[in-house]
Amino acid sequence: MKPTHFERAIFLSWYCAKGDCKFCYMSTQKNKIKNPRLARRKLASIIAEALICKACGWEIEFLSGGYESHTLEELVNITKIIKQINKKKLWLNIGVLKESELKKFKPYIQGITGAIEVINPRLHKKICPSKPIKPIENMFNLCNKLKLKKSMTLIIGLGETLNDFPLLKNFIKKHKIDRITLYALNPHPGTPFKKGPKTNYYIKWIKQTRKTFPQLQIIAGSWVNRLNEIHQLLEAGADSITKFPSIKLFNTKFSHQIENEVKKANRKFTSTLTKLPKINWQKQIDQLNIEKDLKDQVKVSLNNYLKKMQK
Ligand code: SF4
Repeated sequence: MKPTHFERAIFLSWYCAKGDCKFCYMSTQKNKIKNPRLARRKLASIIAEALICKACGWEIEFLSGGYESHTLEELVNITKIIKQINKKKLWLNIGVLKESELKKFKPYIQGITGAIEVINPRLHKKICPSKPIKPIENMFNLCNKLKLKKSMTLIIGLGETLNDFPLLKNFIKKHKIDRITLYALNPHPGTPFKKGPKTNYYIKWIKQTRKTFPQLQIIAGSWVNRLNEIHQLLEAGADSITKFPSIKLFNTKFSHQIENEVKKANRKFTSTLTKLPKINWQKQIDQLNIEKDLKDQVKVSLNNYLKKMQK
């Protein structure tokens, strides 16, 4: 039985300096946030989340966010601590980084995610006006030089058609992409998008990607209102699944549904979304190479999360 796991992206802040990608929740928040540094998550809460990911067998899909809300030193420090918990190198998705910046993260990361989102250049210009593809491509070239892996994100349902698939094929080939996350658009209130793509159409993208790139790691995002498609996403060739509020909805009918969907696809689920592992959490905190004060704060954050998960 092929194994399948859950991937959870860890967000470092609730602010993005670009803030104008037409589909994005952050685009509805930017004008409300006057001081980006106040939109940062507390380090203790990020650490607590990473401990839960490790315990539940959730891979950390990437560390995300942080544009202008953290300094580079802060981001490197967070990455270093989370790598300690993860026990393996991480993926980063924090925008375009220069060579000198990539070098600072290199001891703690296996690769970089480029948030491409839209592969059709004409559509991309309209939908992500402040996030051009070229600088991401340049960063991928630097990754080659520094021997870092490359991952990309793509959202299905933003106006592209299957005729755009050759553009994706060429992009993956050109940059020797190691991993792709495909998301079905989840329309946020306040954005111009009102509905996500039909399951059949979304699946065609996954199938085509798998057929063209048998070795590519494919992560597929679903959402709470489309969980019944998960077995089809896996059968179409996705390796793992993402984009589910796994802490908030832990051990609910939704998380049970996901586990059933994985079974339906004849896969062995190596994560848990329903049973909290019995582990000595204090020992996990004590083992961390961080200040005592921070450990105390992590304990408080962790207890808050665990309480939610046990409800
Ligand atoms: S750059 Fe990313 S976080 Fe910022 S608005 Fe665009 S999609 Fe959202």
